[in-house]
Amino acid sequence: MASDLHTHTTYSDGRLAPEELIAAAKKVGLSYLAITDHDTVEGISHLYENGLYPTRGIRLIPGIEFSAHHPSNEVHILGYNIDIYHAPMLERLNDITEARWTRFSEIIEKLNALGYEISETEVLLLADGSKSISRSHIGRALVKRGYFDTIGAAFDALIGYGKPAYVEHYRLEIDECINLIKSAGGIPVLAHPILVEDDALVERICRMGIEGIEVFYPKHDAEATKRYLAMAERHGLLVSGGSDFHGIPTRLPQNLGDFTIEDKWAEKFYRPVQKL
Ligand code: AMP
Ligand code: MN
Ligand code: MN
Ligand code: MN
Repeated sequence: MASDLHTHTTYSDGRLAPEELIAAAKKVGLSYLAITDHDTVEGISHLYENGLYPTRGIRLIPGIEFSAHHPSNEVHILGYNIDIYHAPMLERLNDITEARWTRFSEIIEKLNALGYEISETEVLLLADGSKSISRSHIGRALVKRGYFDTIGAAFDALIGYGKPAYVEHYRLEIDECINLIKSAGGIPVLAHPILVEDDALVERICRMGIEGIEVFYPKHDAEATKRYLAMAERHGLLVSGGSDFHGIPTRLPQNLGDFTIEDKWAEKFYRPVQKL
């Protein structure tokens, strides 16, 4: 049996609602599924509060993916098994969400000034109620307008790091992400180390109190997987992995179940639901 510990829903920049994602995961026969939306746990609370939290057929792991602050590199920290009602964490998530709104307006202003006709409203309609508004949604609107063929092309030309409509957003420091996840009872894991683009920094993060590393990831070739597996062993870290599924047609992997990990890794992250 196979599992996936890295997925996104409409509560951040994924295309499937949490209940749709769970249905898709059951259909392809996943054992363990973690929902790890960017900077929000509202997809999980949505399931919980609407009686949609799965109790049969699949083991759901409540998760999150923080975009941490680093001056030069992309550092994302996954958190598994967090208490989704932990007040200090919700407060910080609220700060991040608010900052994302301000930054969203700033990006739209920049795009308008560059001559791209795009409104906040049309992006929000595409964003489908997302609680974590991102450049991914803006890219989607730019594609819909016909300016680009893919979201990736919009990033390369306009909204990617250092491009004309790029605006930084408020992020927590790496150690704050790690501590916040732990204070919410969760397991902090370094996401997709290959995308950090600096293994010396990855090594330093391994010594910052992180408890796991995402060894299995679509962009890791056999050599990288081996390297990060060895790193996990060296630092005594849990081994995680997932597809980073967004449900975006032009983004690989296209389908849930196309990239999975063995259950023997995933089961270490699962805790049965205490109260339902
Ligand atoms: P943000 O969180 O607003 O900075 O936006 C980053 C999001 O955009 C990430 O969660 C990715 O899913 C997505 N993204 C980043 N780079 C690309 C790219 N080159 N192509 C498509 N999506 C991207
Ligand atoms: Mn994303
Ligand atoms: Mn990420
Ligand atoms: Mn992700």
